[in-house]
Amino acid sequence: MSRVKLHDLEFELFIPEAEVNAAVDRLARELKVKYEGKRPLFIGVLNGAFFFAAELMKRLDIECEITFVKVASYLGTNSTGRVTDLIGLNERLEGRHVVVVEDIVDTGNTVKHILDALTDHHPASVSIATLLFKPDAYKQTLPIEHVAVRIPNDFVVGSGLDHDGLGRNLPGIYRIIQ
Ligand code: 5GP
Repeated sequence: MSRVKLHDLEFELFIPEAEVNAAVDRLARELKVKYEGKRPLFIGVLNGAFFFAAELMKRLDIECEITFVKVASYLGTNSTGRVTDLIGLNERLEGRHVVVVEDIVDTGNTVKHILDALTDHHPASVSIATLLFKPDAYKQTLPIEHVAVRIPNDFVVGSGLDHDGLGRNLPGIYRIIQ
């Protein structure tokens, strides 16, 4: 399938499934080297990361744990104005090596808020592993250490990413047709 219509928008195949798989293979090898013997805790950010998290986990033959959170963001009364809650985080993070698993990092605002919220739990280390990264859209300074695929600043779906609920189940990555 090289073209799909999701609601009102059309998409074309941009990165075939085999290429995505090869990129996840490479990332799993990179994470193995870094985290073997450290029993890392992977934290997948729902909904989008379910797909990438599963693909990554089945390639990681090291001792590790995985859990999932949902992110709720709202305006708080503190000085920063914005509060990020990680819903469903029941694990103790103190002293753990934590890897946040994201489907995509765009401006980086979401991942910045997640990292700020995690830091309050005093983990030994925190890094980010993302399926897709848009370097041209990125506005934060924290390093995105583990990236499977870098893409231009286009809207994409597939491999867990949706357009208004549709498209998450598409293998590969599809790019919007302008
Ligand atoms: P941020 O700008 O905070 O890095 O990304 C915010 C959120 O926007 C991501 O978690 C993702 O849900 C959504 N997003 C950003 N770019 C895309 C894209 O190309 N496709 C889809 N489906 N969602 C995106």
